[in-house]
Amino acid sequence: MNEKRVRQLNTADYKGGIIVYWMDRDERYRHNHALLYAGAQAKEHNAPLVVVFNLVVDFLSGGMRQFDFKRRGLRELQDTFIKHGIAFTILLTDDSPRDLLHFFQEVQAGMVVTDFSPLRIQRTWKRAVKKELKIPFFEVDAHNIVPVWEVSEKKEFAAYTIRKKIHTQLPEFLVDYPRMPEVKTIRAPKTDWEAIQNVKLDGPDIVDTSSGERAAHNTLRRFIASRLDGYAEKRNDPNEEALSGLSPYLHYGQISPQYVALSVRGANAPLNDREAFLEELIVRRELADNFCYYEPKYDAFEGFHEWARKSLDEHRKDKREYVYTRAQFEKAKTHDNLWNAAQREVVDTGKMHGYMRMYWAKKILEWTESPEDALKIAIYLNDKYELDGRDPNGYVGIAWSIGGVHDRAWNERPIFGKVRYMNANGAKRKFDTEGYIRRFLGEDKFI
Ligand SMILES: Cc1cc2nc3c(=O)[nH]c(=O)nc-3n(C[C@H](O)[C@H](O)[C@H](O)COP(=O)(O)OP(=O)(O)OC[C@H]3O[C@@H](n4cnc5c(N)ncnc54)[C@H](O)[C@@H]3O)c2cc1C
Repeated sequence: MNEKRVRQLNTADYKGGIIVYWMDRDERYRHNHALLYAGAQAKEHNAPLVVVFNLVVDFLSGGMRQFDFKRRGLRELQDTFIKHGIAFTILLTDDSPRDLLHFFQEVQAGMVVTDFSPLRIQRTWKRAVKKELKIPFFEVDAHNIVPVWEVSEKKEFAAYTIRKKIHTQLPEFLVDYPRMPEVKTIRAPKTDWEAIQNVKLDGPDIVDTSSGERAAHNTLRRFIASRLDGYAEKRNDPNEEALSGLSPYLHYGQISPQYVALSVRGANAPLNDREAFLEELIVRRELADNFCYYEPKYDAFEGFHEWARKSLDEHRKDKREYVYTRAQFEKAKTHDNLWNAAQREVVDTGKMHGYMRMYWAKKILEWTESPEDALKIAIYLNDKYELDGRDPNGYVGIAWSIGGVHDRAWNERPIFGKVRYMNANGAKRKFDTEGYIRRFLGEDKFI
């Protein structure tokens, strides 16, 4: 285990007691650096290991769709831990670390290890836990291949500024995982599954996308076997099943990006396909974590680059041909069938194709009164309907579309200023837009 992945958040010394892995972002047993680190500590100190998961019911306002997916993954995960002889407890709780602190006391924890997320809410929990803990508290970046604090010390301007920094460090970090050591465990407090099964939340219908570590690995295997070959050419066509479909599994940490990268790198597919995929999985995804980590306003207008803010400001008063309310967007009631089809895709399936996400967000900018309104509506809809929502990739994808984050200035035009514009004709040149509309709105749109 590369120690650069790990940092101690306080200065306490270990004086004996149980090692607790507080699992948060990385909901998996296999290829999990935070679990491996906790396991290594347990081995070194000859102490038992126990894993706890803080299940916040409406985490970042997620609804039943997201909760159900998470719950199904956690159910399988608990069985996996039991099979490997490690106690695993899920605490059903509200948005505060109170129950977690109580758990640490109850099991007489001597050390806490947790995983890493750049999002505000998780950083706030960690600060609160750190304030109370008198035992060593470690954080392990188990999500990024190159740990976020190693790849760069600052907010990167664009993919081209972070790419070289990542690539020069890949030989050190993109390596095989060590084995999980054999560890002792304890009888930990039981998970209240009945309460978890009884949780009812509002929000869109649940979707039948399989959840859990096994489903994540099957999805990866199928992608490599049948779709990686051709990915570079077909990935911008929403009518092709060309993408990996891995984003929900990556978002919930049900599969390790490092393992995915190693599998794709070693796959028997053309080099340009593997490189195109690894650019998205590694550079774009880790750039999103870099942005959220170093930019406290990652989901606000103030987080955009100065050139974009200035340019959008200069176009605030431009006439908007169409202005829609959040409800009209949500119900897919715009004048544009291509946009409506994209909205229906995410409402019905829990996932919008990557190319359409750009078009979708840019049109929200075009059809609202202000960039602030556009940002709020796009984040609200993205987080409400996407299975992979509430993720750094989402905040950054939306900031790229609406605020030019990680992009460059383009030719000036109404409303968008120098932020890149997209229109339906561009989409038509790339793929059969009518076929896409038919799939999600039905034939009647063409009668
Ligand atoms: C407006 C907008 C909103 C978005 N919202 C989200 C979101 O909420 N959650 C989310 O995970 N992604 C989001 N993305 C990024 C991207 O569209 C999705 O990651 C991708 O479509 C997921 O499908 P896939 O796993 O089949 O993609 P694949 O093409 O198979 O990519 C594999 C993985 O690479 C990463 N990746 C791919 N494209 C990007 C990208 N542009 N930026 C960062 N990482 C990328 C993802 O982890 C993805 O799972 C958004 C993009 C935009 C423009």
